[in-house]
Amino acid sequence: MYDKFKRRIHYLRISVTDRCNMRCTYCMPAEGVKLISHEDILSFEEIHEIVSVAAVMSVDKVRLTGGEPLVRRNITTLVKMLSGIQGIKDLAMTTNGSLLKNLALPLRQAGLHRINISLDTLNKEKFRRISRGSEVDDVLEGIKAAQSAGFPIIKLNCVIHEDIDENDINDVKEFALREGLQARFIRKMDLENGEFSIVEGGSGGNCDICNRLRVSSDGKIYPCLFNDRYFHIRDLGIKEALEKAVICKPESGTVSKNKLYNLGG
Ligand code: SAM
Ligand code: SF4
Repeated sequence: MYDKFKRRIHYLRISVTDRCNMRCTYCMPAEGVKLISHEDILSFEEIHEIVSVAAVMSVDKVRLTGGEPLVRRNITTLVKMLSGIQGIKDLAMTTNGSLLKNLALPLRQAGLHRINISLDTLNKEKFRRISRGSEVDDVLEGIKAAQSAGFPIIKLNCVIHEDIDENDINDVKEFALREGLQARFIRKMDLENGEFSIVEGGSGGNCDICNRLRVSSDGKIYPCLFNDRYFHIRDLGIKEALEKAVICKPESGTVSKNKLYNLGG
């Protein structure tokens, strides 16, 4: 699929849940957020159908995100369902890593190709503060499990914000180097105020080469993270929602009320 600005749109980022077991300060308020009701959350069958239709329309890359994708029950079943879809060459996930210890191998065996793990700092105290109570050691064990499970590419996502200093950045860089991982750095974004960031070491945040659509956990297709417009698959059907989202993809992002915990960053 090509949009009006001749960009090839072939990447779908799917939020499989708006729930999360962390409360990162730059992502969510401490008290959590108003959750989408369970009956409105896309079923695995619906997600499978969306990806199947998108694959016919030449989407070849899918990323599962959230919320935290690993809190979605039986997530490995979904991965298995999606990995069997013809045309999907790249099936990836972005996770906070805290539940990966027990899930890395099943996910790999289910057909997940690549994994990005969020890690802002190796400092235990700081990690607890930023995540409002989670343990960096759980994430480190998750990373180890992903390495043992044989993921060929493991990327670390590090958000640079007011609590992160040069030491944290260097620690993550050195850790990545030592462990053979790739580190990507992104500045904290504020969608409502139009502050967005190019991903250092990645392709996100650059409107000229944007190749993606986003699917919220309740089935809305968003052409752009920095724009409020969406097309609901339950109103329009999958094909029409995808087509409309491509046609209406803006040349560049502006501002939006979207939240990263809802659309997966
Ligand atoms: N829970 C998973 C995780 O943390 O990796 C997936 C969803 S999370 C919203 C996806 C990515 O967005 C994470 O790497 C997270 O650090 C990043 N993120 C969250 N809020 C952000 C913000 N305000 N600015 C930049 N990145 C943000
Ligand atoms: Fe949860 Fe990821 Fe947001 Fe942190 S960044 S609160 S782990 S969704």
